[in-house]
Amino acid sequence: MNQTTDQTHQGCIFCRKEIIGKSFCSTPLFSAFYNIAPILPGHSLLIPNKHCESLFELTDEELGEMMVFARKITSVLKTFFNCDSFDWTIQDGVSAGQTVPHLHLHIIPRKPLDLPESNEWYNKIQRSEDGILDSENRARLSEKEYNEITDRLKVACASINK
Ligand code: AMP
Ligand code: ZN
Repeated sequence: MNQTTDQTHQGCIFCRKEIIGKSFCSTPLFSAFYNIAPILPGHSLLIPNKHCESLFELTDEELGEMMVFARKITSVLKTFFNCDSFDWTIQDGVSAGQTVPHLHLHIIPRKPLDLPESNEWYNKIQRSEDGILDSENRARLSEKEYNEITDRLKVACASINK
């Protein structure tokens, strides 16, 4: 992905400067930021800085870099949220429940008994067309809460790019 030209997409919320500015860790190609409406504590999103909708639009090298970066972020989340498991999920396409048409990997820290059924996340994905997953009713963090967690994660991730 060439980062020398503006590769944002008009109207895309994940291309907005405010979103990129809220990233708690980034590389020249990818950014990680906290979900505004986390399904569970630690629910983060990892996106390419360049606008693209699908994993199929990444080269093999970009895909490799994305997953290496995802694993680094996840290691930090593991310690920060004291969890032992993760859901790493991409809803690639509208039929799969993608609501924001800018490729993003959900990273969801998991703990024993954090959901009534440990695979409930997957059930929610299947039912996403009902608006359960990305419903406006899902609790959103206040700006203050969001900025606080972002600042703390920035500190926790400080060593990643060194
Ligand atoms: P998906 O349904 O896979 O497209 O997921 C989109 C995700 O983006 C949802 O989990 C939303 O909660 C999240 N989201 C939407 N707007 C924002 C925002 N401004 N900042 C952070 N996360 C967001
Ligand atoms: Zn975009």
